[in-house]
Amino acid sequence: MPLLCLCALCATAAGVKPGSMEMLVDSCGFFPQISDDGEWLLYSPTDARQLMLKNLSTGVVKTVSSVGYPGFDAIFGGDGKVYYVTQERKKNGLVYRTGHCYDPATSKDKVVLNPQHGRVQAIRATAGVVINGERQVYQSSKNVGVYAYTRGDALYIVDESGTTRMLQPVRDSNGYLWASLSPDGSKVMFEAASRGVVVCGLNGTIIAELGEFLMPSWYNNDYIIAMSNAANSFYKGQRIWLISIDGETFKPISPKEERAVQPMTAGGKVVYTAQYSGQVNQLELDIAPAIGRDFAIGKSKTFKVKNPEGGKDVPRVFINPGHGGHDSDDRHVPTWVIGARDTLHYYESNSNLTKGLALDEILTNKGYETVLSRTTNNTEDDLDLFEIVSLAANSGADIFFAIHSNATGTDTRLNFPLGLYRGWDGKPVVDGSLKLSEAVMKSLERNEVTVWTHKQRSNGDWSFYDWGYQVGLGVLRYNKLPGMLSEGSFHDYLPERERLFCDNYCWLEAWNQSLGIDEYFGRKGKSKNGVIAGTVRWSDRERRDDDQRLFGEDQLKPVNGALLRLYNGRGVLSRIYTLDNRDNGVFVFTDLPKDKYKLELYYGDEELYETLKIKTKKNDTVYKNLKLKTDQKPKKSKKKKRH
Ligand SMILES: [Zn+2]
Repeated sequence: MPLLCLCALCATAAGVKPGSMEMLVDSCGFFPQISDDGEWLLYSPTDARQLMLKNLSTGVVKTVSSVGYPGFDAIFGGDGKVYYVTQERKKNGLVYRTGHCYDPATSKDKVVLNPQHGRVQAIRATAGVVINGERQVYQSSKNVGVYAYTRGDALYIVDESGTTRMLQPVRDSNGYLWASLSPDGSKVMFEAASRGVVVCGLNGTIIAELGEFLMPSWYNNDYIIAMSNAANSFYKGQRIWLISIDGETFKPISPKEERAVQPMTAGGKVVYTAQYSGQVNQLELDIAPAIGRDFAIGKSKTFKVKNPEGGKDVPRVFINPGHGGHDSDDRHVPTWVIGARDTLHYYESNSNLTKGLALDEILTNKGYETVLSRTTNNTEDDLDLFEIVSLAANSGADIFFAIHSNATGTDTRLNFPLGLYRGWDGKPVVDGSLKLSEAVMKSLERNEVTVWTHKQRSNGDWSFYDWGYQVGLGVLRYNKLPGMLSEGSFHDYLPERERLFCDNYCWLEAWNQSLGIDEYFGRKGKSKNGVIAGTVRWSDRERRDDDQRLFGEDQLKPVNGALLRLYNGRGVLSRIYTLDNRDNGVFVFTDLPKDKYKLELYYGDEELYETLKIKTKKNDTVYKNLKLKTDQKPKKSKKKKRH
């Protein structure tokens, strides 16, 4: 948080030139980019399927591309050409990205960087353009000057000699975004997710911390523009801000009535989008713009990245474990009256994070690459949705996967898995999203520990939510990765909430998610190990809840504190599991090598009540729901030693 600047102190001259406001596009103009000479405007509709170019003198609009999701991250070079990236999802689910250069003067499009896996990004350098991939890099000329980019929570600066330096000026960030060099090439600016916009020297020394803004862009060497961070409650509203590096100027420049997003500035012009209408507006400021940068004209160059991380292209999953922070957006169900914000209540953020961390570990063990949007549950890590989407794009992942649980928000009690993807029912905006959602939901439905009231389903968020035409979920908006949001179950169905308190149950959901993800990538059987899961319930004790209807086996009381012993095929005791006392009756044995096991159920004074044989399967789950009867006699009276 910067020093707060009260309006009275902001009495500097810098601001919008009176009467300079102009509408450039009347709808669907997202991610606007203006050319250095102010002649051309690039933009995309609500989804990335088209990249449009408008000549601002003639008003003529043309489509640069409508193949391979070219929208959202295209840029202009100092040569007036458009540099952009397309993506293609292969049969094995891997996404390959290609670099293009389009010349507005001739309408000619050229592939300048061949398809490669992972992140590919068009970047403006001080004297040229770079299309930066993890395997190969394209430069518009041999000497493009200096450029910067981010990967994960690291900032990379590449100097004139091509030497790359990695910097981490801000610690404990969930990832860096939007790196750019000042017009004179002396400073670098980036945003550390939920930590704010930072300006530093090329050696990483912090020059200024400008507060929680998003998508910062250099106006000149002393001023930047940026958009509000919607997750930050201090900067009410969604506006475009003008901020000086010295901290003197700090004010909104877009009209109060609009929700303004996605600002960009070049050649003394500021463009941004009014979020609801998609209208693109342009402003001029009464301060001198940056002097035009050089653009070295010469033979372009493509080179291999010397030490690409990892040799093989393996699936990369961006995991977003829902919203965090025990805040107002964190769907909270009080269990006992122990203080309004006590973290021991049920909070969706807790179970989402437990599932997310589990999925991260499971997928890593199966040979996937993963990126997580948060690993803690603090207010600071409750990222702005646009930040999450941008981190996902920056990760170069093959899929975006958001983890949540559902609630009816009514008195009706339901429990079923619901997958949501961006688009209309059956017509996802991004190819692959429906396939992913169906694979994961079918896998979640196979969970026999829970009681489902309805079949699993997958829906397009535009069809599912009545929030306006093509509005949909914020975390899927502007997201061009194949992706989905998984509402794994309903946490306001009481027995399900008690299960979600059990970390092993959350692990089981993550495991089932991983099986769906395996299916999507055609990687079934990549894990040698299997799982045994189930419940222990009283067959003759009814569970009642005055407030809600309970379904199926949930009408039976769970057995708290039962003990399970698992012996492997050689008769060696391999695991012991004690059920918790939270009325869920859940047990889960994870990472079991394929074998014939013997499971023993003990209760009370460690007396044996049940023995059964279970054969586990590779990369799959075997379910066993066990029952105890109140007057059941133990199998053996012989007592075993307590463990
Ligand atoms: Zn949620």
